[in-house]
Amino acid sequence: MISIETAFERLLQSVRPLNPELVDLFDSVGRTLTAPVFADVDSPPHRKSIMDGFAVRSADIDATQKKSKVLETIVAGGWPTRALQSGEASRIMTGAPLPEGADAVVMVEMSRVERDSDGEFVTFLVNELTAGKNVIDRAQNFQSGEILFPVGHRICPMDVGLLAEAGAAEVKVSRRPTIAILPTGNELVDSHQVPERGQIRNSNGPMLAAMASALGLQTTLLPTARDNADELREQIALGLQHDLLLLTGGVSEGLLDLVPATLMGLGVKEVFHKVKVKPGKPIWFGMKEDLENEDAGEAERVCHVFGLPGNPVSSLVGFHLFVRTAIRCLEMPWSGHLEEVGNEEFSPIPRSAMAELSCDFESRGDRPTYWPARVLKNRDSKRIVEPLPWGGSSDLRSITKADGLILFPENSGLTAAGAMVSFYPW
Ligand code: AMP
Ligand code: MG
Repeated sequence: MISIETAFERLLQSVRPLNPELVDLFDSVGRTLTAPVFADVDSPPHRKSIMDGFAVRSADIDATQKKSKVLETIVAGGWPTRALQSGEASRIMTGAPLPEGADAVVMVEMSRVERDSDGEFVTFLVNELTAGKNVIDRAQNFQSGEILFPVGHRICPMDVGLLAEAGAAEVKVSRRPTIAILPTGNELVDSHQVPERGQIRNSNGPMLAAMASALGLQTTLLPTARDNADELREQIALGLQHDLLLLTGGVSEGLLDLVPATLMGLGVKEVFHKVKVKPGKPIWFGMKEDLENEDAGEAERVCHVFGLPGNPVSSLVGFHLFVRTAIRCLEMPWSGHLEEVGNEEFSPIPRSAMAELSCDFESRGDRPTYWPARVLKNRDSKRIVEPLPWGGSSDLRSITKADGLILFPENSGLTAAGAMVSFYPW
């Protein structure tokens, strides 16, 4: 049995990145950048007005409320043709470029326009105006050539606007990993079926498939395999065609726990089996190289196989900790060891945040224990977490009420209310 840290280390050492590809901006959400994105323009590209009103020289504005001559009207998308002298103003719309000589904008609500035979004149209903008022400078948001997103950044919908503004019509991202989920167990029936005596519904399959899809993976949920070697072999062979294969059930010491031996019989090399963690101890991880596919790069011809324990929360914790880490390693353009992971923000390993425990809590685990917990509130910018009543690794109900997991170290015994604990948000 290895420690959680050793399991992470082995994943980081063995899982290589997938090849990058160029995708259209609209297809980039959920994908991980394998090259930084630089801006190819200044934002904004010119000094511009943020109000509809009049571009003026701020020094002209005083309590005397003199009239200014209106030179022209500048709209967004247009360009000024006249430089302002003292006593002159140009009508300007939001987003339009400021004319030479102007250094501020008076909003239209604070102006009164008159027309006579000499043209248009405007009087301002303000007594003073600071330079720069209602104006945004060229490149105030970002400069051409600046890095907007670093390598390893996972693109979210909010990023798409900035990417579009920066001219990133296509972005270089990691190939989307494909994953197959293979539930195993004689007792399992599908969710549309009514379980008969001794049977339960397959909850892991749909749950793990949903978790993988939510991470943007191309997901296939295979039909459940019975606990017999032939059926397992047949189904595993299908699963091995993917970048990742997750089996659930059949990885511990029971009579019908045939998964590790069957995987190894099919040439999947074990990297680790059993991690000192609760729940989820029996987890198995190995890799199968596709020796026939010689042209493909290293990661391209490897199937990364997890045997997750059958209890639903065990499989969930295994996914949350280890499968996610492997996925990040596939998507991240580095290969290395824990200590080489310089930027913590982009670490492939799930990150915890310290949080205050809401009540006394006794953890009796002789292994590091992940316990479902709810965030109560953020008091004085501190996060307070409450361990939920939880029936153990078959109890999915508490999980649906949880915001994440608290990690209690092994043999931690009683932890007092107010103590700081490690919290892993979903
Ligand atoms: P196993 O790891 O195969 O020994 O299974 C451990 C426990 O998890 C047993 O109670 C199984 O019935 C249950 N279990 C196994 N697979 C699933 C599944 N796909 N959905 C829900 N429960 C499962
Ligand atoms: Mg089983």
